[in-house]
Amino acid sequence: MKYKIQNGYLLFHTGDGFQAEKRDLYIEGDKIVKIGGIGANRGNQADPSDMTDEREYQVVDAKDKLVMPGLINMHTHAYMTVMRNYADDVDFNEWLFQRVMPVEDHLPQEAAYWSSLLGCMEMIQTGTTSFVDMHMFHGQSPKAAQQAGIRAFIGRGLVGEDLYQDGYSRFKEALEEKEAYENDLTKFILSPHAIYSCSEKLLGQVAEEAEKLNMLKQIHLSESQTEIENAIDKYGKTPVKYLSDLGFLDKNTILAHCVKMQQNDIEILHGHQANIVTNPASNAKLGNGFAPINEMAEKGLNICIGTDGTASNNTLNMFREMGLLSLIHKGIAQDSTAAPAQFVIKAATLNAAKALSMEGKLGVIAEQACADLIFIDLHAASLFPNNNIVSSLCYSANGSEVESVMVNGRFVMRNRQLLTIDAERVYYEVNKIVNQCL
Ligand SMILES: [Zn+2]
Repeated sequence: MKYKIQNGYLLFHTGDGFQAEKRDLYIEGDKIVKIGGIGANRGNQADPSDMTDEREYQVVDAKDKLVMPGLINMHTHAYMTVMRNYADDVDFNEWLFQRVMPVEDHLPQEAAYWSSLLGCMEMIQTGTTSFVDMHMFHGQSPKAAQQAGIRAFIGRGLVGEDLYQDGYSRFKEALEEKEAYENDLTKFILSPHAIYSCSEKLLGQVAEEAEKLNMLKQIHLSESQTEIENAIDKYGKTPVKYLSDLGFLDKNTILAHCVKMQQNDIEILHGHQANIVTNPASNAKLGNGFAPINEMAEKGLNICIGTDGTASNNTLNMFREMGLLSLIHKGIAQDSTAAPAQFVIKAATLNAAKALSMEGKLGVIAEQACADLIFIDLHAASLFPNNNIVSSLCYSANGSEVESVMVNGRFVMRNRQLLTIDAERVYYEVNKIVNQCL
């Protein structure tokens, strides 16, 4: 399809940060091909070199809308969505070992599909166009993402002593998924679960395979005080130093959490150019605290944002996550200038694209970028008046203002109508799972 999006404000990022400008946008197939003038007022014909035949394009009127790059949720577990509000206000060990893990152990494969699809539905409705997933159910997450038409970077959770022995069945599934489902929208990454569930040997093997297969890798790191204490007891070093010494850290590594930074952990991460994903709601809810985002940002680390799964959040709404991130870190620093809106929006778009090796393609409105766009209703009461659009995205938006969502040049939601997901069927199937498994 070819679209001309006109009359809307486009969110650009320049040396001065994000700003909204009224411009026309041309999309062909999966890409943004041209950023035009101010259609109605100035007209593209003002430029004699402009040979665009306007009749080829389906016009999308974006009056009173902000068109911005889709948000990128850099860490979640979509299959867990069925467990939303299932285990709250309980001790962390009870949450994990008595509530979450027993459900995971008994969830049928197909249940993970519907649960993941519900997660995709919530992400689309709240303006996420890409997500990074770690899952446990063979093929279900990619199937759901492809049904939803959302962009995904998916990793089968890996655990064990040896990738080619006890860890092999999961590694084999990871490779099979890549073979079966990889396409323009669905990419695969290697996802060892954590340093306490993977041996030193396995982590080394994953790092080698990632290099060989040219894949990104993600891992949960330094999430809780217990993880830090155990690493220091067992290895005499922090989890960050441990991974660094293993040769696991590089610019193709995505680290979820990084809450408990010790000694010179931040310098080590900076040295390796590893990417940080902060999950403020999940870290707060599970009583783990807050990542030192202000210090990390000051050191120049690439900070991204994730929601984590709904069992520990309990939403996949990136607008809530962005607002929380800023408010939490202003509060911690006792500094109202900390974690400003400009920083937060960049973390959810451009920084995420960098971590995914998709700079210039994702998280940006630019010629030749992927047409992953969200349309935000600037006349929603929650955003009005539009005194500062960037502020409103961080401090006022709750996700309900997302009116339309396009991924790779295809509308997956238009005027709040989902176009790829039958919501009633998802509710029906998820209710069945709740009755059977929870
Ligand atoms: Zn996680």
